[in-house]
Amino acid sequence: MARYTAAVCRLCRRNGEKLMLKGTRCITKCAFEKRPKAPGPQLGRVRRLSDRGQQIRDKQKVKQSYGLLERQFVKTFKLAAALGGITGDNLMILLERRLDNVIYRMGFAESRSQARQLVNHGHITVNGRKLDIASYFVNVGEIIGVRPESMKSTYFKNLKVTIESKAVAPWIGLDRSKLEARILSLPAADAIDAKLNASAVVEYYSR
Ligand code: SF4
Repeated sequence: MARYTAAVCRLCRRNGEKLMLKGTRCITKCAFEKRPKAPGPQLGRVRRLSDRGQQIRDKQKVKQSYGLLERQFVKTFKLAAALGGITGDNLMILLERRLDNVIYRMGFAESRSQARQLVNHGHITVNGRKLDIASYFVNVGEIIGVRPESMKSTYFKNLKVTIESKAVAPWIGLDRSKLEARILSLPAADAIDAKLNASAVVEYYSR
């Protein structure tokens, strides 16, 4: 699956805020804190964004926070629009239901890109069967776990210890000793990252 491979810290600098794409490094050694300016040549004046420019910026922020490329993001947006109801809420719920995001929310990875790697490398199971599709949307009642062979790896042995102190999203019931979780409900749209403006995304694509 195609993915963004350039330096992700540039995305934070371009957006003018921390998107927290690198796990603990974002807290201990953040490139945006060192250089809180947009990448590229500095023009010496701050340009005011037009309404359209702001919509593009907001859309990019949502897309980049979940680590999606434009094509994948548009596909998810179309699905959200087809569901009926509030498209912005549907979009955020679909993004949260992605298997890579769920692994991140369970505390199995420090960033969504690391979570995607765990899924792509076949370490994760859904209802007891290996599933290596990061874009899979989890459903209520499904059990997300680790493949028995992968459990023997140092990464997952250590995870059992480090996960003790990690917070987990309230819609996920995690059994830390088994590294296994049940999806208790769908995430509530208003409980998802308040910094992300889903209605701006809807306005952007509605033009
Ligand atoms: Fe963004 Fe994290 Fe890089 Fe800081 S360290 S610029 S928050 S990705």
